[in-house]
Amino acid sequence: MEWAKRESKNYIFNYHVGSLAEKDIEKIIKLQENCYDFISNCLNVEMEQKINYFLCETSIEVGELFGDNEPCNGCAKEPNEVFAVYNTEVKCIGFHEDAHLISYNLSVPPQTFLREGLAMFFDKVSLGIPQYMWVKYFIDNGLYVKVEDLVINDKFYNYSDLVTYPIAGAFVEYLTTNFGIEKFKEFYASVDEDFDKSFSHTFNFSVSESNNKFINYINCLGYNDAFTEIIKNVVQDKL
Ligand SMILES: [Zn+2]
Repeated sequence: MEWAKRESKNYIFNYHVGSLAEKDIEKIIKLQENCYDFISNCLNVEMEQKINYFLCETSIEVGELFGDNEPCNGCAKEPNEVFAVYNTEVKCIGFHEDAHLISYNLSVPPQTFLREGLAMFFDKVSLGIPQYMWVKYFIDNGLYVKVEDLVINDKFYNYSDLVTYPIAGAFVEYLTTNFGIEKFKEFYASVDEDFDKSFSHTFNFSVSESNNKFINYINCLGYNDAFTEIIKNVVQDKL
């Protein structure tokens, strides 16, 4: 299929001629530029080059363009490429992939938990439901996984991303609201393989103390049973 191109302030959008992405391109440009503006203001970093955004028809096409041939709805490739599905069922646009690329200008921490946590912090929701509500559900139903386990990559990949991603996002949100974005950025930029040591050094708490405080915090927040019901159905369906 033939590609067409549209350039905006911070992006080059590539889409197929005659696709839904072509029809919606003005809307997509507006949305991504707003996302870029928010992320780059919040982290106080700019990209050195425009983000090259490929709007694909299928997850198979995303895998082919990314290069690993693994079907995927959206993925970011350093330094400045995003491949994302945009069709009638799946519209993989918004904060997540751009947050990965923009935050790489700060650092690329070795822990997947932290990188995904920052991207999910900008998403704020998973399947349209606030991340803290997912975490509350996991705590109440024996599905919660401790942060001190999730910062170990092998353990992180042992669990479904339906569980790991909302915990990561809600935990990063907890750290930034509790300690401030500057402190969080300092940690993000300095953390090495020894997560525990870097964490206590920056925040003056151990990861396990922080995990307990995080659970206490989540348990203080209100939630709506209608959301709990939706989460329950998704979890029964997918886990
Ligand atoms: Zn991600």
